[in-house]
Amino acid sequence: MATCYSCHTRLNRKNQSWEHIIPSALGGSTKSRRILCKTCNEKAGSTIDQALAAFCRSQLEKFGIQPDRINSSQDWKPQPFTTEMVVLAVHKILTNFYFWKWKPASQIIHYDSIQKHLQVVPLFYPEMPLHLIYLEAREHAGWMTGYIELFGEIGFIVKFETGVREKNSAALFLQDPVHKKEYITTAGDRTQIIEYVKQHLQTFSTPSAAFPLQFLPHSRLPQIL
Ligand SMILES: [Zn+2]
Repeated sequence: MATCYSCHTRLNRKNQSWEHIIPSALGGSTKSRRILCKTCNEKAGSTIDQALAAFCRSQLEKFGIQPDRINSSQDWKPQPFTTEMVVLAVHKILTNFYFWKWKPASQIIHYDSIQKHLQVVPLFYPEMPLHLIYLEAREHAGWMTGYIELFGEIGFIVKFETGVREKNSAALFLQDPVHKKEYITTAGDRTQIIEYVKQHLQTFSTPSAAFPLQFLPHSRLPQIL
């Protein structure tokens, strides 16, 4: 039985909810019912997800993406948001991805992150405003390292501790926010993208050198939600 990673409530027919891995407000469509309860989902949706949408406002307008939660362009009003809210929303994307794809049983202890654009999407798909999520574990590192790129224009490197020793592995996910679907790419492209991101993340992957990056606030997302 799945549990909500935020409040640890067991999920059942009554309290489960569809959580978008990348917020629907950003054109995310892939979702799971096995990661967040309805209460946590709604709370995050009305706060940090909206903050991230406000942060990405120019990209949403440029690519003509209508957030699902907003009915028409007339309703689009700039929402007040803080850097910390944006960072929490970014951490939530990676957390969603981790629990959806990887390890439903573990817990995330804390996060750290930096805003850093590796320009992966423009390099491989210059015409596409894609979202990219990359997550890797190195054996015995004790840390997971992830990279999120939104619309091919905004990038974040996130590190977090899960309390479990992961095996060497990497996962890549691409979302097409314009057509609201997962972007399926070739195995050859995937291998190249993973290699490229891996190389760039290497400098952020050693445990003690991990945190000269106090660029953006740390967070303990599950407790804050
Ligand atoms: Zn919950």
